[in-house]
Amino acid sequence: MAGLDKNIWVIANWKSNKTIAEALDWVSKVGPEIPKLTNLKAVVCPVFSALSEVKKAITVGNFPLMAGSQDLSPFGVGAYTGEEPVELLSGLASMAILGHSERRQNFGETDEMIIKKVDQALKGNIIPLVCVQSEKTLVPQGCKLIAYEPIWAIGTGNPDTPENANKTAKVLKEKYGQDLEILYGGSVTGENAKAFIFQSNINGMLIGRASLDAEEFIKICKVMERI
Ligand code: PEP
Repeated sequence: MAGLDKNIWVIANWKSNKTIAEALDWVSKVGPEIPKLTNLKAVVCPVFSALSEVKKAITVGNFPLMAGSQDLSPFGVGAYTGEEPVELLSGLASMAILGHSERRQNFGETDEMIIKKVDQALKGNIIPLVCVQSEKTLVPQGCKLIAYEPIWAIGTGNPDTPENANKTAKVLKEKYGQDLEILYGGSVTGENAKAFIFQSNINGMLIGRASLDAEEFIKICKVMERI
C-alpha cells in the first residue's frame, strides 16, 4: 500500500472516442505501467463496441485495471432498442458511470432514470458511479461511489480548486453518509492530480480528455507511487 490509507480511483471516461484498435493500443501501453498497489483502483470506460475487446486484453495481460461502462439501461433484457442491460454487461464491466452531465444535458436523463439505473447496476453486481454536478444533486440510495463534477470544469481546462472539491465532498458525506467514496472530475491532468488525491474527502478522479492519452493516464496513476 502506498503512503495514503484510502482507496484512490483513477477512472478513464473516454466518452465517444477510440476505435477498437485505438483502445487496444492504449491498454497495451497503460496496462503494464499501472503501479500494483492494493488501494489504487484504475478503471477504463470505453464505448460499448470496444468493451468486450478491452476486457479481454486486460484479462490476457493480467493488468491491474478494470473495465467499466459509460452507462447502462434502466431496464433489464427485452424490447428496449439501443439499450445495454446489466445482464449483458455483467461479465464485461465492473463499474458503470451513471448520470454524467453530458447524458443529463444531451439525452434528457433525469434523477428518476438514474435511480433505476443504480438499482439495475446493483442487481448485476456492477458498481454504480453516480456523477453529481453539485452538493445539491440527488445521490440515489445504495450508491457508494460518487463523482463531483461541476459542469463548468468539464473539458474546459479550468478545474475546481482541490480545496473547494474537498469542501463539496464533505457536504455530500454529511448528507449521504461517511462511507461514500467521492471522486473529483473536471479538467484533471497529470499536473494537478496529486493535489486532489491529497484532499481528505477525495478518493480519486474521473478523467475525460486527459485519459485519452496513454502517457497522461500513466502519469496520473504513477502519482500514487510517489506518495
Ligand atoms: C468528464 O467528462 O467526466 C470529465 C471529467 O472530463 P474532462 O476530464 O475532460 O474535464
